[in-house]
Amino acid sequence: MPIASQPVPTPPHPFADLDQLGDEIAELSAHLDAATARLLTLIRDFDARGGWNTGFSSCAAWLGWRVGLDLGAARERVRVARALGTLPRLAEALARGELSYAKVRALTRVATPETEARLLAVGRAGTAAHIERIVRGWRRVDRQAECRQATRQHSERGLHVYPDEDGTVVVRGRLTPEVGALLVRALDAARETLYQRTRATAGAAPPDPAMAPPTRAQQQADALALLAESALHHEIDPGAPGERYQVVVHVDAAVLADPEQPGQSVLEEGSHVSAETSRRLACDASRVVMRHDDEGRIVEVGARTRTIPPALRRALLHRDRSCRFPGCHVRVGQGHHVRHWAQGGPTTLGNLVLLCRRHHHAVHEEGYRVSRESDDTLEFRRPDGRPLPEVPPTVPVPADPIHTLHAQHAALGLQLHARTARPAWLGERLDVGWALDVLHPRAVGPPTC
Ligand SMILES: [Zn+2]
Ligand SMILES: [Zn+2]
Repeated sequence: MPIASQPVPTPPHPFADLDQLGDEIAELSAHLDAATARLLTLIRDFDARGGWNTGFSSCAAWLGWRVGLDLGAARERVRVARALGTLPRLAEALARGELSYAKVRALTRVATPETEARLLAVGRAGTAAHIERIVRGWRRVDRQAECRQATRQHSERGLHVYPDEDGTVVVRGRLTPEVGALLVRALDAARETLYQRTRATAGAAPPDPAMAPPTRAQQQADALALLAESALHHEIDPGAPGERYQVVVHVDAAVLADPEQPGQSVLEEGSHVSAETSRRLACDASRVVMRHDDEGRIVEVGARTRTIPPALRRALLHRDRSCRFPGCHVRVGQGHHVRHWAQGGPTTLGNLVLLCRRHHHAVHEEGYRVSRESDDTLEFRRPDGRPLPEVPPTVPVPADPIHTLHAQHAALGLQLHARTARPAWLGERLDVGWALDVLHPRAVGPPTC
């Protein structure tokens, strides 16, 4: 029988009517947007309560690890989740499936509690492309205002240092916000150092009761003096990584003769850091080895050497590329000795792992553990001993997740359909300039010509 004579079968497709297929896409999208609103609420709560702070550097890094989002998308989720915390109208519109996640994401870049209602109206009326254009224009107006402010702040910076009649020196000035923050941090650190030194001295001998404790302003003055002293001492060199700490290691002469003997090296990093901190600093630092005789007198001071020689560091950076802690991709790192060199661990590629500053702290001071397994993989463990896998186990998903989603939304009383998120736009041309003049509180009005 010739093939051509066979009847053409009608496709068994349930969606013969494409409108119906389109409606189903629109309805499911509204369901997904409503579910995204719930997801963002959970993320906001998790973020605010620091649930990610279990060795991860941020909520986004945790999301990347746990949910498999790329870092950019994860950061965006966290940003939108935080923003919606202060934008209840936009949050509600997303939760009702009336505004898509894409629109809400764009609007949260510019919305404030003050402008939220107007922007929600824009979101309802326009398509996602309209919203994108309006938000871009909005940011331009914002940026121009910010730019004017930053230029003013920068030009107003100044520091006046002049002697008073009695020989004291008066300091008065104004700094840009970022330089100010730097100064405040430095003063805090210097005050902390001074305060701890004072406390250590006070422990040894009771303080003179006639000497009142210094006021906050006096402490600040002392801190500034320490900053000046330290800066001059280091020839105003902020230093390269690995050069910033010098660790002095006191080793018995006998131990020095036999470097295989573990545990006999004493690190001297001052009284204000814990032993674990000393070990972290020593992990990737410069060191000077001193030899003592039996009476404790120093008989020899070695040359300063780097714990990890530059060539080995290059090999380590090439092999690890970024911090090896699960979920972390920070590219600037420190070499961590899996088995510490002070305990006989060799400074070899096999005993080193690249960790960012945050995670180097985690493995030394926060009880996280890293070990190299026999098959050369790294195993990280939490302080409670539970493993921290590179890729977390997947969560079981119901057999029919869409049905489950519909059922959950029905239980919440959400009536979602194909027209829930339809914009009110009727096809007219969008005049962004006009829209911004009407909407933006800082817009200066239409140009008059
Ligand atoms: Zn280390
Ligand atoms: Zn890291």
